[in-house]
Amino acid sequence: MYGILTSDPTLARADVGEFVHFVTDDVSGRRGTPLDGVVNAVACWGNTEIVRDDPDRAATTTKGTRATPETEGHHWGTICPTDPDYRAGLLDRIETVGDNGDVRLTTPGFPGGGFCRCVRCERQFATSEFDDRVAWRTATITRFVREAKNRITGDLIVTLYPDPYPGNLRARAGIDPQALESVADGFLVPLCSISYETTYWVESLARGFAHELGDLDIPLTFQLSASEAGVDRLVDVTHQIESYADAVVYGTYEGDFETVREVIHRRGTATPRSQPV
Ligand SMILES: [Zn+2]
Repeated sequence: MYGILTSDPTLARADVGEFVHFVTDDVSGRRGTPLDGVVNAVACWGNTEIVRDDPDRAATTTKGTRATPETEGHHWGTICPTDPDYRAGLLDRIETVGDNGDVRLTTPGFPGGGFCRCVRCERQFATSEFDDRVAWRTATITRFVREAKNRITGDLIVTLYPDPYPGNLRARAGIDPQALESVADGFLVPLCSISYETTYWVESLARGFAHELGDLDIPLTFQLSASEAGVDRLVDVTHQIESYADAVVYGTYEGDFETVREVIHRRGTATPRSQPV
């Protein structure tokens, strides 16, 4: 299956591909109007606007480094996942967006292995049933995703950080795909580049996820970006990864809409290559 991901309501209605992911709420803090008949994507703890307005709410390390757009390795602000008011508001928002159908969660975990070590997280971990911090973080995120799922009637798709190495999703983000098997209805992995000058890493990551998640009965979608990749290059990348997934979704803007349309047309009329995993 092939679909598009867009934040443009007009493109979302352009009838290209078999499904649409619509960026309803993004990591800037922008809140949009959800659409019917699409998968509405909601940014979870990525929210630059709130971090800018109230830096104390950002996830932080033991050294006081905050998850802000200015911090190396971070491209947006990330709220501490145990912030009770934010968490409650986020679940309400997911419920509201979910009234329109399926929901995709983006930025659903901690923003890196060193986060969050704020006073509240330290206290919650210390008084928890866990001796292992990774286990506590994973339980925190799993509980949130379960609550999100309970708030909606449609499917829930969870975005995973593109690191299939065993144990790394737990250590980085507190996300455990195995623990989410009974909760999530789909996993999505972004494998985005600007132009895909090289593609070996895309295939390697796709293959790694197929290995790691292959035993789970959950559909897997890979997301490709298209901003500076031509049709041939994007068709080639798709060809390399599609046998590892159930679907491919293309990040789509007005400027590359025709490229994506042509790629989906060409892949839709081709026979997928089968690859041993
Ligand atoms: Zn915290």
